[in-house]
Amino acid sequence: MTKMNQGIPTVSVFGVAVSKWGMNETVAYLTEAISARQPHHIITANPIMMMAALENPEYKAMMQTAELIVPDGNGLVWAARKGGDPVKERVPGYELLHELMKQGERLGWKVYLVGAAPDVIKETARRLALQYPGTEIVGYRDGYFSTEEDREVIAGIIKAAPDLLFVARGADTQEPWIAKYKDELQVPVMMGVGGSFDVISGRAKRAPMMFRKLRLEWLYRLLKEPTRFPRMLALPKFAVRVMREKENLTKMG
Ligand code: UDP
Repeated sequence: MTKMNQGIPTVSVFGVAVSKWGMNETVAYLTEAISARQPHHIITANPIMMMAALENPEYKAMMQTAELIVPDGNGLVWAARKGGDPVKERVPGYELLHELMKQGERLGWKVYLVGAAPDVIKETARRLALQYPGTEIVGYRDGYFSTEEDREVIAGIIKAAPDLLFVARGADTQEPWIAKYKDELQVPVMMGVGGSFDVISGRAKRAPMMFRKLRLEWLYRLLKEPTRFPRMLALPKFAVRVMREKENLTKMG
């Protein structure tokens, strides 16, 4: 069932409203959010997060507070199709980050980066500044801080008054963190970007084209980081749930 969520066409996947827009419409919408100074928490959802939502009501409730959820992974594109209400295309978080940086060049946006190890975030900031000189990096810091340090981190962001805030601390942490503080932060675009800074800094490689074409990015990542295996079990579990509940998938509240 297609619903409109603040003007965004969405499909409900297990009760989570996933945007049906493609990349261009998403960037256009977020550009408007920035000019209107309206805070938005954008979640780039994948099956691992959807399983977390199905298994943990608190995580699901947190997801439901996001202003925009885009289908990062093929898994979600596939699920929406199985449910009979397809989305336009994948909107990968990594690519959305770059599209927003590009758009920021034309519109003179300011960006703040939080997350990853100290050397990784420093190199990420350097490379992004080189690649997108028109988008000003007004601050950055690593993602290894405690709850006690949240206040100081938030104060730094508020002072810098960015248009975009990218947070890379792993999906378990980054999304609840943004949801908790978004009213205080009031940044127009706040988005969790997972392992993106590791890729931008050159610390980790994106899957080679062959893996991407075959839609096997997850397999490449698993081969590089075998410790990820347990959380990857969410993928087949998600597929089974989709097939079992596909009649009701898009009707669940
Ligand atoms: N990270 C961080 N603080 C933490 C845990 C992780 O900044 O407390 C960073 C980590 O360095 C990496 C990113 O978060 O750059 C994503 O980590 P991972 O790939 O483990 O997360 P996933 O999104 O796969 O859950």
